[in-house]
Amino acid sequence: MTSAGPATTASNTASFLDHDKALACIHCGLCLSSCPTYLETGNENDSPRGRIHLMRAVQDGRLSLGDSVVRHVDLCLGCRACEAVCPSGVQYGQLLEGTRDHIGKHHERSPWQSFLRRVAIERVLPFPERMELALVPAQVLLEVALQAESARVFYLARATLAVPFGPDCAFPSEAKTERIRSADRVVGVSEYVARYFRQHAGIDAVHVPISLLEPEEWPAGGNQLLRDRKRSRPRG
Ligand code: SF4
Ligand code: SF4
Repeated sequence: MTSAGPATTASNTASFLDHDKALACIHCGLCLSSCPTYLETGNENDSPRGRIHLMRAVQDGRLSLGDSVVRHVDLCLGCRACEAVCPSGVQYGQLLEGTRDHIGKHHERSPWQSFLRRVAIERVLPFPERMELALVPAQVLLEVALQAESARVFYLARATLAVPFGPDCAFPSEAKTERIRSADRVVGVSEYVARYFRQHAGIDAVHVPISLLEPEEWPAGGNQLLRDRKRSRPRG
């Protein structure tokens, strides 16, 4: 699973957050519904409020900088949608930058994680052309689903970037959007994607669990497709 990097202790958690900026959060929770990672996982620690709480705890030496904390910070997209809705003017982006810098200096990642971060974050994400190339598999899958005559429910990639419309879309496509509109129903693998469909395309969309192996009840409409897929997956 994830790296087993050593936890950082209070002794090397020298101040990495601006004290006043970190204290500006009043825990009101108004940012939660704007945070895509919170909407995806439903975990408070993946929300702006939760992450600020973790950052402060690490800075104060109440929490060590272990894999769990790092994972919650890593999952943040840095989109700063939370800043736009915060009534206290919390400068989340700056808190995040300070924390990531601190993690970079004090948390040891596994060689695999380091490699992935170097390739994905430094060499792919900042470059739109490379990002587009990296998303080709998701786009191909979507294309296949759109072409299939019998496909009445589309199963989509877990990325808003793979959705061809809406304000956050990197590569809008009117043609793909039109074909999606012809579906009976769309299945998104996260609540965020499903909500995105409903909000920006007026298309009926349902959320399904991220893992097909999760023992949850499938939502109506996606049942048969997902059960078939689950049955065809190799056991292991
Ligand atoms: S909206 Fe601002 S003050 Fe409220 S919980 Fe989120 S970050 Fe904190
Ligand atoms: S920057 Fe984006 S992903 Fe990160 S906490 Fe704020 S809204 Fe959530």
